[in-house]
Amino acid sequence: MRGFSNSNSGEIVSAIAQRIVENRAYLSDIDGLIGDGDHGVNMAKGFSLAAERLRGEVRPLSTALATVGEVLMTEIGGSMGPLYGVMFSGFADALDGVEDIDAQVFERMLRNGFEEVQSIGNAKVGDKTLIDTFAPALEAFSAATAKGESFAAALKALVVAAEKGRNSTIDLVAKIGRASRLGERSRGVLDPGATSCAIILQTFAEGAKAKLAEAP
Ligand code: ADP
Ligand code: MG
Repeated sequence: MRGFSNSNSGEIVSAIAQRIVENRAYLSDIDGLIGDGDHGVNMAKGFSLAAERLRGEVRPLSTALATVGEVLMTEIGGSMGPLYGVMFSGFADALDGVEDIDAQVFERMLRNGFEEVQSIGNAKVGDKTLIDTFAPALEAFSAATAKGESFAAALKALVVAAEKGRNSTIDLVAKIGRASRLGERSRGVLDPGATSCAIILQTFAEGAKAKLAEAP
């Protein structure tokens, strides 16, 4: 095995859900500054419902990701339901039928989720959305892998780039979504979606790194 195993890694998704729930108030506070203050509430509702469904059994990573995608898409409103719904379903689809999750598979998974979000949301880098976190994170992972760095090193690069991308949203004016109605007044604070996306990618990378360390 070059990577980590799909079949027993569903717990990574439970960890992501837990981290989102822990950040409920923080994410809503940020959304309160340039939106309607519901981002943490929406996210925590979706992810705690998903965590509920995942409880008590060892599941494949692909199945757990698909469960989150389904729950977010069907049960949660706001912008984030469909956006994160297709992201997680996109992740899940890329792992279908794969057991050894190596860096190439992981990259394919990230790319598939990213493309799904972009195809329904049409946001670009610089629009002050979760894309400002995700795009550079994916790029950094990809570049590290292409340079021949280890899977673990590529995960580290992904986290660093995600945090930098999230922070870049402070200076941006929102061009899309609810916050865009504020124009110039949306400058000066973090984007809530970029912040939740960083939490998701960080926790995903930490989980993958822990699984890699366990792998034979
Ligand atoms: P709502 O805007 O409906 O209140 P949330 O508060 O849950 O929904 O989510 C807001 C976040 O959604 C924003 O911070 C932004 O990152 C993200 N977002 C909104 N529209 C888009 C889009 N078209 N593409 C990508 N992300 C988006
Ligand atoms: Mg909102």
